[in-house]
Amino acid sequence: MNLNFFFELKKKNEKLIKQIEEEIIVYDEIMGCISDNCEYNYMTIDFLNYYNNLSEKCVEKLNIIKSITKEINVDIYKLCEHNFITDTIDISPEKSQNICYCTICELSKNA
Ligand SMILES: [Zn+2]
Repeated sequence: MNLNFFFELKKKNEKLIKQIEEEIIVYDEIMGCISDNCEYNYMTIDFLNYYNNLSEKCVEKLNIIKSITKEINVDIYKLCEHNFITDTIDISPEKSQNICYCTICELSKNA
């Protein structure tokens, strides 16, 4: 398997992570909406449970995809012919930090 395959896979995984995170936000919004607008009864509690379960399933999916992404990064790190550069990033208005990362795979240099 070549580097481009792993790059493609990583890109797809990042897309999935973003989508699932957005899905979780919508479930939270729906649950908030139910809590704000409805009286608690068997029906609303059922609804809350359904959405809560869906949200938990998303968190499980997220964890799996994130751990796959970690493994993909290990393979990318091994395969890439890195071109490391050092850059300064601002972490707050008065604090900045030097980071060393590869312009090809965008991974930071392992210490
Ligand atoms: Zn690299």
